[in-house]
Amino acid sequence: MKTGGLGLAILLAAAVVQAMAGGPAPAAAPAETVVDNFNYPDAASAQAAWRAMWGTAGAAPVEVDGRKALRLPCNFRGTKIERASWDRSVQLDMAACRGLRFRLRCADTSPVAGLSLYLQSGDGWYAARFAQTEREGWSTIAVDKEDMGTEGRPAGWGRISTIRLSAWRGQDTDTELVIADMALVGQEAAIAVVRGESAAHDAPREMGSVVQFTRTVTTCLKELGLDYSVVSDLDLAPQRLTGTRLIILPHNPSMPDAAAEVTVKFLESGGKMMAFYAMPARLGQAAGMPSGTHVPQQFDGYFSSIRFQEAALAGAPPVVGQRSWNIRGARPVEGRSRAAATWFDGDGKSTGWPAVLVSDNCIYMTHVLLQDDAANKRRMVLAMAGHLVPALWRQAAEASYARIGQFGRFAGQDDMALQAFRQVKAGDKPDPARLQSLTTTLKEAERDRLRAQDFLRSGKYPESIAAAQEANRRNILAWCVAQKSQPGEHRAFWCHSALGPSGMTWDEAAKTLAANGFTAIVPNMLWAGTAFYESRLLPVAPEVSEKGDQIALCLAACRKYGLQCHVWKVNWNTGGRAPKQFMERLKQEGRLQVRFDGKSDEHWLCPSHPENQKLERDSMVEVAAAYPVDGIHFDYIRYPDRDGCFCPGCRDRFEAAIGAKVADWPTDVRRDAALEAKWLQWRRDNITRLVAATSEAVRKARPKCSISAAVFSNWPVDRDNVGQDWKLWCERGYVDFVCPMDYTPYEGEFEGLVARQVQWAGKVPCYPGIGLSTWPSQTDICKLIDQISITRRLGTRGFTIFELSAPTASEIVPLCGKGITAKE
Ligand SMILES: [Zn+2]
Repeated sequence: MKTGGLGLAILLAAAVVQAMAGGPAPAAAPAETVVDNFNYPDAASAQAAWRAMWGTAGAAPVEVDGRKALRLPCNFRGTKIERASWDRSVQLDMAACRGLRFRLRCADTSPVAGLSLYLQSGDGWYAARFAQTEREGWSTIAVDKEDMGTEGRPAGWGRISTIRLSAWRGQDTDTELVIADMALVGQEAAIAVVRGESAAHDAPREMGSVVQFTRTVTTCLKELGLDYSVVSDLDLAPQRLTGTRLIILPHNPSMPDAAAEVTVKFLESGGKMMAFYAMPARLGQAAGMPSGTHVPQQFDGYFSSIRFQEAALAGAPPVVGQRSWNIRGARPVEGRSRAAATWFDGDGKSTGWPAVLVSDNCIYMTHVLLQDDAANKRRMVLAMAGHLVPALWRQAAEASYARIGQFGRFAGQDDMALQAFRQVKAGDKPDPARLQSLTTTLKEAERDRLRAQDFLRSGKYPESIAAAQEANRRNILAWCVAQKSQPGEHRAFWCHSALGPSGMTWDEAAKTLAANGFTAIVPNMLWAGTAFYESRLLPVAPEVSEKGDQIALCLAACRKYGLQCHVWKVNWNTGGRAPKQFMERLKQEGRLQVRFDGKSDEHWLCPSHPENQKLERDSMVEVAAAYPVDGIHFDYIRYPDRDGCFCPGCRDRFEAAIGAKVADWPTDVRRDAALEAKWLQWRRDNITRLVAATSEAVRKARPKCSISAAVFSNWPVDRDNVGQDWKLWCERGYVDFVCPMDYTPYEGEFEGLVARQVQWAGKVPCYPGIGLSTWPSQTDICKLIDQISITRRLGTRGFTIFELSAPTASEIVPLCGKGITAKE
């Protein structure tokens, strides 16, 4: 029976894979303009183009997999260089593109602490960090302009004069980078997103929202597979709109006259526009749109959703959730525009205010685009763009179809299916039920793919997109089903909310975690100045009287479902949650931190103050003594950075510790290297003292209670920067396990971090922190599977995921339970 079932599944697998061959050609990749194809005849010419800086070894041309490339040696061994760095002089106009793209491979990234790309412009630089995304072979590195910060005062994207690549020293070992195919992307795209950078001068307080809301729109375009460029409103010129058919104004509180002029001309010559919230009056006239007035919400939830009138905009979802706090109150202009959608409140009542207006050349939404209800937002944005430029429907449908199966590391659906079957069939005893489930899911995915293909061929683009998305949902499910569990692991979730994931009781949260094979929860129940339980030492949060003692509730749920509960304290930091009176008292008693520049740090308690040490320790002991918890968990068990703490008390206590006066406080502890070494050690001792004292007292109060800590990822650097000497805590047995916060989305970087941390932790278990909620996509189950697999390869026997939010609990936890953490 067993072998029979297996044989059938294999036959089915073959059928599925075969059926996947063929289909329409994938959508064309975004247009690229070559910056460097690395076709250098010899080392001398390569080194003349890519100049090695500050003692870095020279570049050399190589050919890898038939691809011309450049070898960049990182000569860290036996040298003092802070980074290996290469400069390439260029004359680039990046004003109308999306960003820079190139390929990278590096066989061993462990000697590198980080990689940076810099673009020089005038006296300043645009800068971004990047990382290898694939552990083997080529990674495609895409650095978008909007993700780059600035250093100094760059003179604009139109005047890029140098490309600099830097690999920062991590270890005293050599390695090398290989780069290839450097190009600009997004030039001459049909969509130009105009970023309101003039706000930096004209409306500085708005600049943060300009960046944020521009990114919300571009993220949406990216996910739709629509090609676009980003153009600053300071750079808008007719020659930069070659190929542009649609201009998007995501949030433009100000607009220079020249830019408005160019946009009006663009509209007059047949161009289209999509605008959000603010629109200069001149543009409104050219687009047949009203200039609205500020309308605040009448109550929380007044603007809760956008509802489209039937058939008002083809392909738009009937309802799009968006909780806006205000809008522009704008009515249609007679004979020019019409309302296509209206704002509704949380009770489903119409506010009467238009949400979306449509004219011949423009679609206008009366507030900025927010991130909530992302799937419907994408559908709405596509319907808007597709209404104005119908060719975009096809572009999005082709991209959607081409992306079927393209998630995680997979080239496509057949690649994923093959790997999924290989994975299930590996080992001694393949599970027939799992094989059956995988086969069924893949067949359903294939059925959806065929539907998407038919719709695409017959020009039914919205239907094709919906079918492609359904195919991918099933493909992801199939990959989850193909995963194997590993018994005996410590599988934990941090939960930042002391009340549990929103919309769930502790009972529901614990039930779903346990049912899906998780073993522990780490709930954040206390801060430096707040307790979510009946504390006698810390101010008790008002939620406790309203909703009950949260440790008691969480613990009861954990007991019921057989889950461990490790209570998490945010040490030293109040997070701005402590009552005013409490903070005033601490301030008067000199218990708050003072920065190097003399400013007080209102959120951080001074670690060297004996009363703070006592409060931190006693509050954790209080929890362990009063509740039968499985563990207590330190977090923020460190200084904020190098600038804390320089309070008068720290000066006195430091001077007493070293038995000498510091003549010029605090300058000398940085100027004098010997004194600085003592200072850094003294800071570490302050933190370690609390860990040791708490550990000892908790073990006395409840011998079986585990002691653990969330720690920074790079111990040798962090012990100086934030005074966190966690390798020592492991050596001395103060902690029973550590959870380094390895919140990188990049597999290679994650693996390098964990490999080093396991060494530092020594005999103490290391359950690495996986930063799910910090990744660009916070529901990326495939990346989560990859990182869990890395912890298994490195033998950690456990991991800790950040964090248990509402979408994680409802979407991710059940997908883990399908395979990677399935209960045995
Ligand atoms: Zn201090």
